[in-house]
Amino acid sequence: MPTPPISPGSWLGLLGGGQLGRMFAMAAQSLGYRVAVLDPQPEAPASSVADLQIVADYEDPEGLERLAGLCAAVTTEFENVPALSLTWLGEHIAVRPGSGSVAIAQDRGLEKQFIASTGLAVTPHALIAAPDDFAHVDASLYPAILKARRLGYDGKGQARVASASAALLAFRELGEVPCVLEKRLDLAFEISVVVARAADGTAAAYPIAENIHRDGILAISTVPSPRVDAALAAQAQEAALAIAAQLDYVGVLCVEFFVLQDGRLLVNEIAPRPHNSGHYSIDACASSQFEQQVRVLAGLPLGSTRQHSAAVMLNLMGELWYDPSGARREPDWAGVLSHPGARLHLYGKREARPGRKMGHVTCVAASALQALEEAHAIAARLGIDSW
Ligand code: ADP
Ligand code: MG
Repeated sequence: MPTPPISPGSWLGLLGGGQLGRMFAMAAQSLGYRVAVLDPQPEAPASSVADLQIVADYEDPEGLERLAGLCAAVTTEFENVPALSLTWLGEHIAVRPGSGSVAIAQDRGLEKQFIASTGLAVTPHALIAAPDDFAHVDASLYPAILKARRLGYDGKGQARVASASAALLAFRELGEVPCVLEKRLDLAFEISVVVARAADGTAAAYPIAENIHRDGILAISTVPSPRVDAALAAQAQEAALAIAAQLDYVGVLCVEFFVLQDGRLLVNEIAPRPHNSGHYSIDACASSQFEQQVRVLAGLPLGSTRQHSAAVMLNLMGELWYDPSGARREPDWAGVLSHPGARLHLYGKREARPGRKMGHVTCVAASALQALEEAHAIAARLGIDSW
């Protein structure tokens, strides 16, 4: 029996109050919902938007009880929410995505096993649990990247290693936590696909973003990209939809891919939530990835993923708030906004720190070339390195 949708006016809950939560809250409110955010930080980016913030640890029974008592359904905005908290919440209210999917995406080892089990290719790798394991690693994996299986993001918890001895050293430095050792691949480029999947199994994929990373952090997403032809786009969308279906996933999911020099497509990782590379959908698609998250959570039909404008998204990192001498400065927002296609999103973070995502700007235009030209002009104005 399909359950009726949750009516506007009801409370939707969110675990995590970062920028993804902030944009979820905005989308939920524009559909008439009230939003409660649980986050341990009192000044989290989502807290100034949410109707209510519960300041509590993610494992705090009282905080979770309050959330479950108030909300009709709960979602998450980052994958490191303790699985036990999701399981507990799931016994009381709807939790989307479910703890099973989140548990797989939280662990790079389980994630790779799962993806390989669906028949899709993953990066060659070995699981490392103890120093001795390096003795059994195939030499062809080097040069490699050692990644902690849990709690890594934006390139954190990772080390580039050229040999077994370097890998052992890096493993010690990571505190000998369970890791995956991945072959370092010669990438042609990177792409990602955001999909939304509803409880009844209907699903929709967004257009492919081509992503440039700097220091392991997403810097630029281009949609559409001239490097992504129709065959590659279809292959990536089909793979992402297959992963969502195999997980029986309910919610918004992002799949990151590597495209190798020989054209092969490998799955890098999955994120059980809206994704930075899907932010362009706010300004360039009929329904944004955040609106889809709301729709799925509330049991409403999926929105259209149709892209109506070409888009280039630039992440605004904390570095931009400092001049070359290290003095604090305010980026030239008026200059950015003088570009007709610029859509500026700032996350309300008080403190700008290098490596911190402070906001993004999406350049929308009638053609991909025009969006790219405007993005380059804005990048030059802000001091973002060209690409
Ligand atoms: P995170 O969870 O921090 O996003 P990723 O595994 O996606 O971690 O790594 C971040 C970035 O580092 C990737 O987008 C890619 O640019 C680079 N990278 C990661 N793994 C590899 C690899 N095996 N070979 C080459 N580049 C890699
Ligand atoms: Mg990644």
